[in-house]
Amino acid sequence: MISLLEVSGVSKTFDGFRAINNLSIQINEPELRAIIGPNGAGKTTFMDIVTGKTRPDTGQVLWGERNESLTGLSEAEIANRGIGRKFQKPTVFENQTVRQNLAMALKNPRGPLAALFFKEPQTDADRINEIAGEIGLADQLPRPAGELSHGQKQWLEIGMLLAQDPRLLLVDEPAAGMTAEEREKTTDILKRAARTRAVVVVEHDMEFVRRLNCKVTVLHEGHVLAEGSLDHVTADPTVIDVYLGR
Ligand code: ADP
Repeated sequence: MISLLEVSGVSKTFDGFRAINNLSIQINEPELRAIIGPNGAGKTTFMDIVTGKTRPDTGQVLWGERNESLTGLSEAEIANRGIGRKFQKPTVFENQTVRQNLAMALKNPRGPLAALFFKEPQTDADRINEIAGEIGLADQLPRPAGELSHGQKQWLEIGMLLAQDPRLLLVDEPAAGMTAEEREKTTDILKRAARTRAVVVVEHDMEFVRRLNCKVTVLHEGHVLAEGSLDHVTADPTVIDVYLGR
């Protein structure tokens, strides 16, 4: 396990409003982490800063074993480091099959290192089958993505991100709009993905976070209010105050 992402003392002000306030968060590889917090806590801005969509006013975002600074890099340069982001709404190609969607996403082959891990070099078809299995869509490969349920589309998009082999995957509210059964499968998919990489999930649904069974970071007013197991943070009086609005 190594320290993969180190957000350190980051602040960001919009029109005089401090959305992120001296925020420090550290994520390991591999790790599954949930980020929770009330509306306006700064969760989206945190992801925007990590992915380079928003530049912090102060502070550092450091990446990888060489502690490379990400602040100042473009969104494309940051994505190329191995950072994938799943937005709330699924954006799959509805007229293409599940297989075609995954094939399009597979534009970055794994590279020569993969040969060290696989006895036989993996073909694209092997890799697509493997990812389809990881996202629970192995039996859906020939179907047009437009015919999938909302939950299945979300899994396909997660699969399309996994096809690019990110070291860090940021996932925004994956459980929104899902059935109970789909939510349960989604936790399994995210846990599996986080065995070999860092997966950071922003989520409102506490039952979903409980099922993720991982370290939780509570954001409030742009900084970390509490961190630890869900039981630990939800027993914290400052967290209870924030959630009950006292
Ligand atoms: P969360 O995702 O936790 O709900 P956000 O990161 O979206 O919180 O927002 C944190 C605060 O920063 C909010 O009060 C929001 O209105 C403000 N904010 C976010 N982005 C911008 C922006 N581009 N311009 C002005 N204010 C913004």
